[in-house]
Formats: sequence, structure tokens, C-alpha cells
Amino acid sequence: MNEIYLDHNATTPLLPAVWEAMRPFLIDTYGNPASAHGAGRRARRALEDAREDTAARLGADPGEVVFTSGATEANNLALFGSAGQAGGHVIASPIEHPSVLEPIRQLVRRGFSVDWLPVDASGIVSGDALPELLRPETRLVSVMLANNETGAVQPVAQLAAQLLPGVVFHCDAAQAVGKLPVHFHALGVTTLALSAHKFHGPKGIGALLVHRDAPLTPQLFGGHQQQGRRPGTEVVALAVGLARALELAQQEHRARQEHVLSLRRLFLESLRATASPVVLNGPTEGGLPYTLNLSFPGCRADALLMNLDLAGVACSTGSACSSGSLLPSPVLQAMGVPDEVLHSAMRFSLSSLLTEEEVREAARRIAAVVNRLRQPSD
Ligand code: PMP
Repeated sequence: MNEIYLDHNATTPLLPAVWEAMRPFLIDTYGNPASAHGAGRRARRALEDAREDTAARLGADPGEVVFTSGATEANNLALFGSAGQAGGHVIASPIEHPSVLEPIRQLVRRGFSVDWLPVDASGIVSGDALPELLRPETRLVSVMLANNETGAVQPVAQLAAQLLPGVVFHCDAAQAVGKLPVHFHALGVTTLALSAHKFHGPKGIGALLVHRDAPLTPQLFGGHQQQGRRPGTEVVALAVGLARALELAQQEHRARQEHVLSLRRLFLESLRATASPVVLNGPTEGGLPYTLNLSFPGCRADALLMNLDLAGVACSTGSACSSGSLLPSPVLQAMGVPDEVLHSAMRFSLSSLLTEEEVREAARRIAAVVNRLRQPSD
């Protein structure tokens, strides 16, 4: 039985066109971009082209792009690199990814205080609560652009506009870049994290965009690369892959979005017709169409996950970085979903590479598992 992969928020397959763009920089143009000779200069040119291209596509300057190993590293660099001395105050949303939440918990252990922004029932952070939480010692506000569990798009520009100069706004845009037009300067944020493997680029590379006026304390030492903000030999092939994947995502944005929207409708309608009751967790409108967080009351999420895997449907119960833990999703908890819905929630995440037939077949397999699990065992 072929596996139907519905876990694209965890990661996506590399597109062949991205691999073709990367390949020469692993085999032929293999120089170290820091070397002064021809091989080094050729590698450096490719790296800087990738940096310029990435910057232009995201509304940033090339000098504002710091390549990292992915969004986890970019989030850590942004938060630890901007927080300053202990005693500061941080504001964040409770629906952030673990790679933001854990650094914030670490800051609290080091003497920082934190306040959490409220979230509504559809998973959207309230824009109104921010002014009351701001204090003279507030250093940092962190709110993601699109949530990895629900697809809810957050009012980042509106939140960032409320900050006084000197307060850093960090935005984890790992689930938004490549799926939504993102313009760094127009958003008005100080730092922004992204990751190539979320939009059919290679694993192992992401970037932190750092506003030209923002000081950032490096977290690694030992080289002058990337203006000392992230030392270490840059991986040219991965940077080329990131830029190419972003280019394709932008060129094909409308077609991908329309196809995924129609797959989403088909999937939801099929499940509502055959596996009712089905509860949609997250916004009914305005969220990213790629993510569907669905609850099947009467089933347990851990049993569903296991049985769906056996039935050839790959999905998840939440963030891949926290799966393995059977605790209910903190994102859905922050949204205040009732217990029965919380404990039967599954995340399905789509990609434009899926076909209607695959989505129809996945819905058939899911309905069969759900209906079997709902039968009372005697
Ligand atoms: N932030 C969000 C919102 C994510 O979904 C992910 C990926 N699970 C990350 C950060 C971490 O990205 P990476 O895998 O590149 O470290």
C-alpha cells in the first residue's frame, strides 16, 4: 500500500529543480567561500547571489540575511541575541513553536520575566492586549506569522506597529515563507526566521533576517563569516537551494494556493460526509489552506496516529518537534478547546504536489479508521 504523506508542515520533499540548482555547488564549485583563490571566489559569488535573491524576494537588504541551519537556530539566535542582560521583560504568544518557547523558558531561568498574549478560539493572537503588557523594561516581543498546528495567520504588522523604538519584535515565519508573500520591511519586525525545508527546499538551511539598525549579539564564535553574526563555513549549495525553492514558491504561488485550497475543500467535505462529527480547530477563513487541524470526538489522538500510520496515512498530532510527547497540544489548549476535542485532534498538512485522488483516498482511509475506533469495544 502506498503511503499518503499529509505531514508537510513537518517537512516537504525537495523539488527536482531545486536539487538541479544545488548539485553543481556540491561537486564542481566546491570552494570555501572565505578562500581568496578562484575556487573560493566562485563559491562566494554563488553564495552572495543566493543571499541577494533571498533578500529581494523577502523585502530585505542582502546585508540583513544571516543564513543559519534552519528556523530552530534562527529563533535561538534572534531571542538570545536580542534579549540583553538579565532582568529584562519578554512578551510572547503561547502558541509559539517549541524553538521559540524553550529559549524563552531558558531566559526566564536566567532572570527574565515573561507575559503571554491572549489567543482567541480560532487561534489568533489578540492585537489589543499588547499595550497593557508593555513595560519600561520590555526588551523583546515574539509572535509567529503562521501557526504550525492550525495555519492561523497572526496580526504581526499590527502588533509590531505598537512597539516603541528599542523594543525588538521577533517573528518566526517558518510556516509562512514560501506559502504567503512575506515582506520583511513592510511587516515592521526586527528579526524574522525562516526554513527552506518547509517549502520544498533542502533541510539544514534557514535564515534569520536582522533589521539593518538592530544590534544582534552572536551566539557562536570562531569565524568572521556573515559579519561575525553566524560564524562557520557557509553551505553554498544549501543557500542556492533555499533561494531556488523560494523563487519557485513565489512564481507558482497562485497556482499552488488554488490547488491546495481545492484539495482542502475536497478533504474536509469527504471527511464530514463519512467520519462525522469532525471539528475544525483553527480559523474557518483567512488561515493558510495547507494546514487542517481536525478533531474526531470519540477517538484518541494517539490511537488515531498509530492506526493511520498502519493504514498508510502519514500525519501528526502537532509539531514534529514535540511529537513523541503524548501531552495535549499547548496551542489548542491556549485556544480553549474542550477536552474531548483536544484529545482527538490530528494535524493534516497538505502540499501542492498532492493529487485529488490521493486526498480522496486519504479521506477514505481516515474515515475507515475513525469509524472503527469509535465502535464500542465489548
Ligand atoms: N518554527 C515553526 C513554526 C516550525 O513549524 C518549525 C518546524 N517544525 C520550526 C520553527 C523549526 O524549523 P527547523 O526544522 O528549520 O529547525
